[in-house]
Amino acid sequence: MSDNSLRVVWVYPDLLSTYGDQGNVLVVERRARQRGLDVARLDVRSDQPIPTSGDIYLIGGGEDRPQRLAAERLRRDAHLYRAVENGAIVFAVCAGYQILGHEFVNDLGQREPGLGLLDVVTTRGEGERCVGDVLADIDPRLGLPQLTGFENHQGITHLGPTARAFAQVRLGKGNGTGDGTEGAYNDTVFGTYMHGPVLARNPQIADLLLKLALDVNALPPTDDRWFEALRNERIEAATQPA
Ligand code: GLN
Repeated sequence: MSDNSLRVVWVYPDLLSTYGDQGNVLVVERRARQRGLDVARLDVRSDQPIPTSGDIYLIGGGEDRPQRLAAERLRRDAHLYRAVENGAIVFAVCAGYQILGHEFVNDLGQREPGLGLLDVVTTRGEGERCVGDVLADIDPRLGLPQLTGFENHQGITHLGPTARAFAQVRLGKGNGTGDGTEGAYNDTVFGTYMHGPVLARNPQIADLLLKLALDVNALPPTDDRWFEALRNERIEAATQPA
């Protein structure tokens, strides 16, 4: 973070951006601008190097083949490691989340190494895909309201000892391990299964990323009526009997 400008890096939009995940970039940008920050948004395609000077890195979900290609390129590039060493914040969804872990199962049915930035391992679920609306209570240490989102994944993600569960599901599968956990995080790296886009449904998470990037405890308030209306609509839809 230099001066008043925030660098937001959207990692591999050509490979990883499903179910509206692009909206996460728009929400971070907008909420930063509303707080008077200059935002430089960098969309980095998979044939380009990842910059190491970003403040916040956003990664979306993707189908199995693009996920493997993205993992190969991110491993080869290695700049995301450096950015995290420099204190950058990373927020990743679904396939992006799985890539941040130690390994996942790729489209060829093989164990594919991830980046190891989160202490999680993803295996392939034997049952039906985890698909549908999710409501979950976010780790109380993060002080955020209930998480809402939409999941669609085959992978099952197991947390290692240094990863904290991002949330506990009330509705839906989350990590799919049967223990009710959803997503994982450590100090600066976050992963979730929530599409939606998740930051439009849960703008307080975008604010958490901004606070971490700016190293502040609070941000000026914003008018969140539109976000609240969207949240309530999704919570109502998720909890209505079929
Ligand atoms: N391919 C992964 C899975 O099915 C991720 C899917 C996604 O990003 N929606 O587990």
